[in-house]
Amino acid sequence: MSNQDWLARSRRAVWHPCTQMKRHETLPIVPIERGQGVWLYDFDGRRYLDGVSSWWVNLFGHCHPRLNGAITDQLQQLEHVILAGFTQRPVVELSEQLAALSGLGHAFYGSDGASATEIALKMSFHYWRNSGRPGKNQFVSLAQSYHGETLGALSVTDVPLFRETYAELLRPSHRIGSPDRRLAAPGESGHDYALRMAAEAEQLFAERSEQIAAVIVEPLVQGAAGMAMYDPVYLSRLRELCDRYQIHLIADEIAVGFGRTGSLFACEQAAIRPDFLCLSKGITGGYLPLSVVLSRDEIYAAFYDDEVSRGFLHSHSYTGNALACRAALEVLAIFDELDVLADNQAKAAAVADDFARLAAHPRVAHARHCGMIWAFDVVGAQPGFASRFFAAALERELLLRPVGNTVYLMPPYVISVEELRWSFATMADLLDAADW
Ligand SMILES: *Cc1c(COP(=O)(O)O)cnc(C)c1O
Repeated sequence: MSNQDWLARSRRAVWHPCTQMKRHETLPIVPIERGQGVWLYDFDGRRYLDGVSSWWVNLFGHCHPRLNGAITDQLQQLEHVILAGFTQRPVVELSEQLAALSGLGHAFYGSDGASATEIALKMSFHYWRNSGRPGKNQFVSLAQSYHGETLGALSVTDVPLFRETYAELLRPSHRIGSPDRRLAAPGESGHDYALRMAAEAEQLFAERSEQIAAVIVEPLVQGAAGMAMYDPVYLSRLRELCDRYQIHLIADEIAVGFGRTGSLFACEQAAIRPDFLCLSKGITGGYLPLSVVLSRDEIYAAFYDDEVSRGFLHSHSYTGNALACRAALEVLAIFDELDVLADNQAKAAAVADDFARLAAHPRVAHARHCGMIWAFDVVGAQPGFASRFFAAALERELLLRPVGNTVYLMPPYVISVEELRWSFATMADLLDAADW
């Protein structure tokens, strides 16, 4: 079977996500036969460097021997068991380790990122209700935020393209300014701008603290906004404000957790602990769907009662799936044994000059870097830039998915320094190759 055959069958049988299917009359779907490390291979023998970590989930490359081995081993013992009223080794060990790493406890599991968002929002509201403050039932999120596509998550998401069609189904929520460094006034530092945006948050909190249950943020990097990066001082200030006004801080580290921003969790760079921490995507190394919400002990305690309805009566069928938890345990073991964070830091330092060269390209603005994410905006990009650049990069063996006029590279951590250099050079060549 060739690429063409799979492409045709996929178009007939599969409804692809986040896509106007008619566009695939001209924009080809890429059939992938196998993956190895940072490379994906199609059925016609072509290869592509996975510059988006398969939608931000893959950490250590495709078909990683250790992850393959751990999952295969788990498969011989237990694939899955109901987690209501039952428990198993991988879920217990993973919960213990995540608590030790985050300082937050009682891991509550879901399967996708969006379900972690839903869990955190419901838990926050229910906590206040159990604490005799049911009026605290509103949520706050940032401009340009993305927290998932289910109705509750979409209510706190600020991407017009995803929201507008469903606006009538969404619960109103408060939106505050994004600390995105690109939005600073001329001459204003990213730090000062972040403080100005935190002051804006305080205004709302001061007026509405009796109604607001929680504020939800993507720490350090707003991914879907086009890798919008901001100063950690925003998070430390927000933490202070949340304490002062008794509002929960929900850290959505679904995309930025597990080393993506340079620290295991992005919140560490602001030296803060959120009230709820949502994790998914990289948690299984990109192998299996798993999400988790960790919370402060005081929150757990507010649900612990003789009365059933004060408990958190929420569930998903695959909650705490043993195979997924086992993959996550292996991911944590790899972080621990191979000093992944230090290794990533060394790689980023080694390519700093190469990225600076790309940043100096006349079509590049707002070149930015955080941990294992590199991004820039293309000046004067014409309509349709993202899909045209995607197709052109693919021709050059580089898988990129620009967001609007933002091009970013978010590769698996096993990418080599040479492959990083090649990626930046290819981007610069592409910028030169057309008018865009
Ligand atoms: C991807 C993402 C989500 C949603 O996760 P899904 O697994 O796609 O439901 C939520 N928040 C952030 C920050 C994300 O990047």
